[in-house]
Amino acid sequence: MLFSWLRRRRRNKLMTQPFPEEWRRILRANVRHYSRLPEPERRRLEQKILVFAAEKHWEGIEGQEITDEVRVTIAALACLMLLGADDYYFDRVDSIIVVPGEFERRHTHLGGGLVGHVTNLGESLDGGPVKLAWDEVLYDAQDRNGTNLVVHEFAHKLDEIAGYVDGTPPLPGHSERRWEEVAGREYQRLVRDVEHGRPTLLDPYGAESRVEFFAVASECFFEEPLQMRDEMPELYGLLSDFYRLDPAKWDED
Ligand SMILES: [Zn+2]
Repeated sequence: MLFSWLRRRRRNKLMTQPFPEEWRRILRANVRHYSRLPEPERRRLEQKILVFAAEKHWEGIEGQEITDEVRVTIAALACLMLLGADDYYFDRVDSIIVVPGEFERRHTHLGGGLVGHVTNLGESLDGGPVKLAWDEVLYDAQDRNGTNLVVHEFAHKLDEIAGYVDGTPPLPGHSERRWEEVAGREYQRLVRDVEHGRPTLLDPYGAESRVEFFAVASECFFEEPLQMRDEMPELYGLLSDFYRLDPAKWDED
């Protein structure tokens, strides 16, 4: 177990390293958010990427290679969520497993408790690694399609911080009650809209459960912040307090 002062010292050292020009090229090509960030945030993101890329154990399976492109792209999206955080890097996630494309998993909580194999693009293993399909990571990072696999899976990791995954991010007491009220209402609205086949700003997958709702709302917060601020200002405000970020500002002009 590493002492926190030692860890902080090591992180500070990583952060002051020059950011490789090749990594910048990767970010400009792959991560849509990178070029939109104001200069100070972009520098901060680069510092966080240096720490995150170095600290995590990266594992490619099913023929997936771990290249700089894979590490830097995934690190950038995870660290985008941490731009408002001080010294936190998803500390309990030691490993990131990357596969080339969608994979099979045993699914145990589909609808009425059906157990079976379904294909999946990402997975956040309880107390363990995050598993990601590289083709989907890249597609979401480059295109504005309203979804973001990396943000989704790492949002589950934030949900897990309190020790259990229940769709409520770790918030101070009064905000948690507010979250219950606002997220509860928006969740019910999403469920009704999905049932009636109405178009939704949030990914319909969020109607699956409150846990998925938080992950999907986080995706929307980073992918469609202006629209979210417009259409669900209370939910946007709560996420903005939680992440200590205001991504709608990055999209304004
Ligand atoms: Zn999920």
